[in-house]
Amino acid sequence: MRKAREMLKTYQYPEFHYTRSPDQDAASPVHHPVLIVGGGMVGLTMALDLRLKGVPAIVLEQGETVSDGSRSICQAKRTLEIWDRQGAAAPMIEKGITWKIGRVRHGNRELYSFDLLPEEGHKIPAFVNLQQYWVEEYLIDRLSEAGGEIRWRNKVISLTPTPEGVTLEVDTPEGPYAVTCDYLIAADGARSQMRRELDLPFKGQVFNDKFLITDIEMQADFPSERWFWFDPDFNPGQSALLHRQADNVWRLDFQIGADADNEEEMKRENVIPRVKAMLGEKTPFELEWISVYTFQCRRLEKFRQGRVFFIGDAAHQVSPFGARGGNGGVQDADNLGWKLDLVMRGLAPGSLLDSYDEERVFAADENILNSTRSTDFLTPKTPVSRAFRDAVLSLAEDCPFARPLVNSGRLSLPATLRGSSLNTPDEDVFAGAMEPGAPAADAPVRHKGRQGWLLDHLGGGFTGVFFGDSGALPASLEMEGLAIDVLAVGQNGLEDTKGWLANRYDGQPGTFYLIRPDQHIAGRWRHCDQVKVHEAMRRALGKI
Ligand SMILES: Cc1cc2nc3c(=O)[nH]c(=O)nc-3n(C[C@H](O)[C@H](O)[C@H](O)COP(=O)(O)OP(=O)(O)OC[C@H]3O[C@@H](n4cnc5c(N)ncnc54)[C@H](O)[C@@H]3O)c2cc1C
Repeated sequence: MRKAREMLKTYQYPEFHYTRSPDQDAASPVHHPVLIVGGGMVGLTMALDLRLKGVPAIVLEQGETVSDGSRSICQAKRTLEIWDRQGAAAPMIEKGITWKIGRVRHGNRELYSFDLLPEEGHKIPAFVNLQQYWVEEYLIDRLSEAGGEIRWRNKVISLTPTPEGVTLEVDTPEGPYAVTCDYLIAADGARSQMRRELDLPFKGQVFNDKFLITDIEMQADFPSERWFWFDPDFNPGQSALLHRQADNVWRLDFQIGADADNEEEMKRENVIPRVKAMLGEKTPFELEWISVYTFQCRRLEKFRQGRVFFIGDAAHQVSPFGARGGNGGVQDADNLGWKLDLVMRGLAPGSLLDSYDEERVFAADENILNSTRSTDFLTPKTPVSRAFRDAVLSLAEDCPFARPLVNSGRLSLPATLRGSSLNTPDEDVFAGAMEPGAPAADAPVRHKGRQGWLLDHLGGGFTGVFFGDSGALPASLEMEGLAIDVLAVGQNGLEDTKGWLANRYDGQPGTFYLIRPDQHIAGRWRHCDQVKVHEAMRRALGKI
């Protein structure tokens, strides 16, 4: 298959050159605190997170440019919030296409539409469509600005766990060298060599259904929405999807059946009539990229293997429907970063790292469940599931109760880490979604006369959000050797300009939230009892 960089007209692939590292001239393997294998969207996010926390981490990447071909386009709100905290999101949001409306069609009729973020008052939109190569390029720019190191054309060819750490052999254009580290993060994608090195099984389902993707360049006045068709005239008996991306590039995705011949389907002379049938004869376009994909819904049994951590596609895979692959991977990195930082600084026990496995396996299972359900709906495997699917589709236009049963891909949402051993369960009664384990919701706030957002004030460390006047609590609480910044919502503190903060957090006067460095809720109380907060801190650090 031709490389994307030979085909794409709208994107100039950057080339990152191999440079010899001093490690290659050392008499014995040089030791590093953290090495990351793979500089895809997940490995880069991990590197950036650690770099910004002051943890030295080096990325070893076999390639010399960004993601080849047409892969992730839908970057979800939570992922963008993480990148925003890392200072990487602004150019992505500016370059990408912001959207939140999806339309579901059956044949030629629209069944219904949905809005992924109906409420106002969030800094980051529901979704931004931006090609994966752009995402990675912006992450690389930000990592380089932050002083991070990526070693291009460094392919890790073997991994040996030792009692003290991990030894790697790395191949380069100038031959191999060895290197050691305390912690290894395997972000080397779906075909993970690191997984094979440790001989780890990858369990789950492999689907045979095939989908043809073509990215086309066209000037069109379709709105920035996700359009999904069941059984359209232009692809009878199958499904199809249309998405707008940056640079007037559009993603067209056609279900083509398990028996389709990939080579035939990918011929330009066969793709062009498909596109014309979808868009009409008169719409001018240029083909940018063509590929056929199948997918799997699988994961490793454990994401932590001693000192090796698997993140992103190396740990789990899902179908593209729902945009949960890359988005889930970025959230893995966000979960691991603060834990590794605190353990390496001696502020938390090594067992905190087990909670990476606990929490992200939970999240991966949620993604796999959603992804498998979508696949079953899109490509029913039995006469009974087909009859159910067809009945739901025939009802959905007129009967709103049937719409939630239509599954064209439940779009990526962050997992609420319900039941995590790091959470302190509620003892008081609260309304709303901000339960322990939930990712903190954003809200507009004014601080020192400047309008901003709650999430801009969270992250980096543990934070307390107190619904009461500043002065009622100290601005910072010292616990377990860590400072908890306390944000008071009220007089002289954060001004809840629209009342949405109190509304989303059920923030009655006196309420106190303890929020983790990755912006997930650790615990909440109707009154700030420092003994209870201290115990919750110990739990969130894996000390009890
Ligand atoms: C058609 C399609 C559409 C998709 N759409 C979406 C979407 O809209 N939203 C979404 O969130 N996800 C989507 N995904 C999934 C998304 O592309 C993946 O989940 C994402 O790429 C995972 O990122 P990663 O960094 O874990 O792995 P990768 O992107 O695969 O990166 C792995 C990196 O590791 C490097 N590497 C591999 N082996 C070695 C080695 N031995 N030594 C050194 N380096 C190595 C590779 O060169 C690569 O750079 C889609 C996927 C497909 C196929």
